[in-house]
Amino acid sequence: MFVRTIKGDLAPGTLGFTHCHDHLFVFKTEQTQLPENLLLNSYDKTKNEVLRFIEKGGRCVLDAQPFGAGRHASLLERLCRETEINIVPSTGLHKSTFYKPDFWSFDAHLSEIADLFISEIEEGMYDYDYYDSFRRRSVIRAGAIKIATDEQGLTEKNKKVFKAAIIAHKKTGAPILTHTELSKWGLEQAKYLIAGGVPSQSIIISHMDRVINISKHIEVAQLGVFLAYDTIARSKYHSDEIEVSMLKTMIQNGFCNQIVIGMDSTRERFLTYGGPIGLDFILTHFMPMLLKFGISEEDIDTITVKNPQTALSFKRK
Ligand SMILES: [Zn+2]
Repeated sequence: MFVRTIKGDLAPGTLGFTHCHDHLFVFKTEQTQLPENLLLNSYDKTKNEVLRFIEKGGRCVLDAQPFGAGRHASLLERLCRETEINIVPSTGLHKSTFYKPDFWSFDAHLSEIADLFISEIEEGMYDYDYYDSFRRRSVIRAGAIKIATDEQGLTEKNKKVFKAAIIAHKKTGAPILTHTELSKWGLEQAKYLIAGGVPSQSIIISHMDRVINISKHIEVAQLGVFLAYDTIARSKYHSDEIEVSMLKTMIQNGFCNQIVIGMDSTRERFLTYGGPIGLDFILTHFMPMLLKFGISEEDIDTITVKNPQTALSFKRK
């Protein structure tokens, strides 16, 4: 088993403290309609966030920006080289509202989408280009497949992308990370992927913690998948005290081995881009809070170090 990072395929045990859902670069492109507050488009600003993250003990970040959605392969590679951070970059496709209605994937055949995902994992990810997402391939290989449902759930459009992810997983063993819109459809996503033959331990359902609905989280966790708790320091949804109490409840219910964390960072939050917190927030503020509220160091280590090793490793049947 290995984790595919920009530095190469690593033994899972070497990863260290990991954010399993985050964003380092998001650039505008002609084919996207991304809100301005998501853009992370300064190399130096992002680099300074990463340097502080490393200084505080951070080691690895899954960059959850998929194909054609403003992802920047060559800057991720440079960042990795200049800061020593481990980065797991993503192939896949984002929620459809982030792309213009005439974006390539909407009319593409299932096999074309699956081939894109497989080639980005095996050969190299397409590099950033404002006009053409297929302009040139980089040497960086993707280590995860990011897919999403919109408000409407598993529509035919989204099912095509999910099917492509299943095909790509079966071919490569790459882990699958999903976006849920305000926690909706996480259960359906997990069931659909598992029914398609993806092992539950290769599935990470993100943003379930946007909404405080523990019985729903438990229902999803009972399928054996990972849940990415990434609504940390986002007071527009709820306080960190509530976030901690949800985590605590999940641990008490026996699901410590299935939680991973991240910040799902955006421009309006990063210090270097003028926001209130940094990429090191979990290390400097949230982990001390977890300890204060009685979560053990061992459980914190499981969530931030051990679970990512399993969740991000390539598995083949
Ligand atoms: Zn995200």
